[in-house]
Amino acid sequence: MKDLQSQLCGKTLLASELTDLSPDALQAALEQKIIQQTAGLAKMNGRLTCQRCGNRDSNRFASHHCARCGKECAYCRNCIMMGKVASCSTLIHWTGPPVVFPFHEQCLQWQGTLSPGQQAAADLVVRAVQQKQTALVWAVCGAGKTEVLFPGIAAALSQGERVCIATPRTDVVLELAPRLKQAFPSVTIASLYGGSEEKNVLAQLVVSTTHQLLRYQEAFDLVVIDEVDAFPYSMDQALQYAAARSRKPISSLIYLTATPSRELQKQAAANTIHCATIPARFHRHPIPVPRYQWCGNWKKAFSLQNIPVPIQEWYREKLASQTPFLLFFPHIEIMNACLPFFQQDYPELMSVHSEDPKRKEKVQALREGKVLGLMTTTILERGVTIPRLHAAVVGAEEGIFTESALVQIAGRVGRKADYPTGDIVFFHYGKTWAMKRAVRQIETMNKEAAERGMIDV
Ligand SMILES: [Zn+2]
Ligand SMILES: [Zn+2]
Repeated sequence: MKDLQSQLCGKTLLASELTDLSPDALQAALEQKIIQQTAGLAKMNGRLTCQRCGNRDSNRFASHHCARCGKECAYCRNCIMMGKVASCSTLIHWTGPPVVFPFHEQCLQWQGTLSPGQQAAADLVVRAVQQKQTALVWAVCGAGKTEVLFPGIAAALSQGERVCIATPRTDVVLELAPRLKQAFPSVTIASLYGGSEEKNVLAQLVVSTTHQLLRYQEAFDLVVIDEVDAFPYSMDQALQYAAARSRKPISSLIYLTATPSRELQKQAAANTIHCATIPARFHRHPIPVPRYQWCGNWKKAFSLQNIPVPIQEWYREKLASQTPFLLFFPHIEIMNACLPFFQQDYPELMSVHSEDPKRKEKVQALREGKVLGLMTTTILERGVTIPRLHAAVVGAEEGIFTESALVQIAGRVGRKADYPTGDIVFFHYGKTWAMKRAVRQIETMNKEAAERGMIDV
């Protein structure tokens, strides 16, 4: 039973994922009532519902002639990247005794210090953990938000609780896991993402992509959703459903983000969620405020193989002063079509996008100063720290540049203590609400930081 318990406790898996389990052992476990099985798809209020991801949208189901049941069989398209849930699929859920995790007294080995803003947020997280509340930590880009979690995670682990940090992006999982292993060396930690080899490790502290949360049920006493607004979490109800279902009925939930959704911002303003803001960066300088620069009909200009003059002047100046820059474009097609015009000035200029296999190398080349500039899609809006960087958005009025995308892009600039300023420009052909809200959000945070004495002016 121990094996099955460690493999299944807190999870909902497809029967087909339990390859080691013989039909006899499965039957025995069912009779002992230590596992429960449910159909993959069910009709609820007359609507087909996926029992794993909660999908009820008829457009997100398909049907095919099924090799397993030999019939015309419906399946969920919504969570198919985690393995197919079909009408004839069985989901298996652990109902036996729960795993008892160790009580880790004083397990936090992190030696750093928290800024006053970080400390206040860390205290809020500890309180939320102790009182099983939901809380929002709204920390500006570059404030150092991971460390803010450490005392709260330690508080949960000291009570033998199970903790999950979920983030939409695999990059973040890979970056967080070693930092957590260093901070909590005595705790079993697993990192989960597509292709991870630790999926069957029974870990007390789990770092996971939000997709992998679909395999958990009533598992965690504390769930942290990092970068809650980032694609695809905000785009996908299923992942929110998964995050909710992965929690125990009495548990705490922490949202950690630099750019909360409008909905979370409203809750914070109305005081309907416990919220701590960290409005200043660790280096105590304000965040550079984006400036607007009208650049006319840039699409037309590019189609005539011209670069709008304000954009041209901007990057030529960066080239002349030998400072690194990122030029954000709304679409790959436009970016790649105009790359050659830019290369006439600077042949080394490269472009990156999400499918680019050389993405990491190109960013590294920029970091090391081997190349001065990169053209990029929104793929580099997060997680990139380059000293002395300047950034510009071409066509900032395009729909892909949401408020949070623009705040994140602005957040790439001025991150280093020895170079805390930088130029951030929105080149546009008409201002949008998203642009105005992004600028206002940054100004409001800087104002709050000044009022709370968190920046040196
Ligand atoms: Zn589904
Ligand atoms: Zn079938």
